[in-house]
Amino acid sequence: MASPHDAANMSEDKATADADELLSDSEESGEPEGSEEEVGSWISWFCSLKGNEFFCEVGEDYIQDDFNLSGLSSQVPYYDYALDLILDSESLQNEVLTEQAQEMVEEAAEILYGLIHARYILTSRGLSAMMEKFKNCDFGRCPRVYCNGQACLPVGLSDIPRQSTVKLFCPKCEDVYYPRSKYHGNLDGAYFGTTFAHLFQLTYPQLRPSKPSDRYVPKVFGFKIHPSAYEQQPAGAKRSASQQQAARQQQQQQQAGEGARQANGNAAAGEQQQQQQQKQQQSQQQPDGSKPGVAKT
Ligand SMILES: [Zn+2]
Repeated sequence: MASPHDAANMSEDKATADADELLSDSEESGEPEGSEEEVGSWISWFCSLKGNEFFCEVGEDYIQDDFNLSGLSSQVPYYDYALDLILDSESLQNEVLTEQAQEMVEEAAEILYGLIHARYILTSRGLSAMMEKFKNCDFGRCPRVYCNGQACLPVGLSDIPRQSTVKLFCPKCEDVYYPRSKYHGNLDGAYFGTTFAHLFQLTYPQLRPSKPSDRYVPKVFGFKIHPSAYEQQPAGAKRSASQQQAARQQQQQQQAGEGARQANGNAAAGEQQQQQQQKQQQSQQQPDGSKPGVAKT
């Protein structure tokens, strides 16, 4: 990964030459020529990278407050170096690291920033920063047709890093989706967490959309499909009524066997299963003997 200074100054093939130049510049004058404002902070550089559009910029003062970072030092390798890199602080940057170590520090900085980000977006400032992004549709839109392009929110399915990638939560249909971009598909869900999307909706109830009024209705030749239609076999493989009855009985016997086995260990669970079976039997009986199939419309 390139550093912000690199990104601002070099194309791929000139990389080495420019890096040498930058190095000699800083060696001679102690400071590279470009001021901090020109190059931008590590945080704004990181958030501007392709694939990092879901991140908001965490305030540096939030990161400088040790209280906000409690517990993170044990979760992130090279913690001190990573923190220095995020804050563009000079204290450890003068130390010479091998290329491999430098890469590991940069990787650790990404993880650390992600974990700080997950906490920051639960604060009022973080929620407000994410609201701007939500209004901009920076997180993408719900792919469901009847959600009419509803803006989504990033959500983690776990707060523990490396468990699952970030998903998109649609506040309209209240379901989760894979992000469309493969870059976003690689982001860790823990950098957004399980709480944010829902705390966001509680904080800004005016941004909460109404429930979807339309629902897709499957039709065959213009007719709605009755749920029981799927129980019918295709004409070629259709079994006789007596065969179906026999199969049903066999199934019930198997279930009863399982119920009895469970009852040995757990009487209550067995009883519950028997009750369920009775209910199933009742629902399987056709009250008027009519054939299930396409619903009358
Ligand atoms: Zn939706």
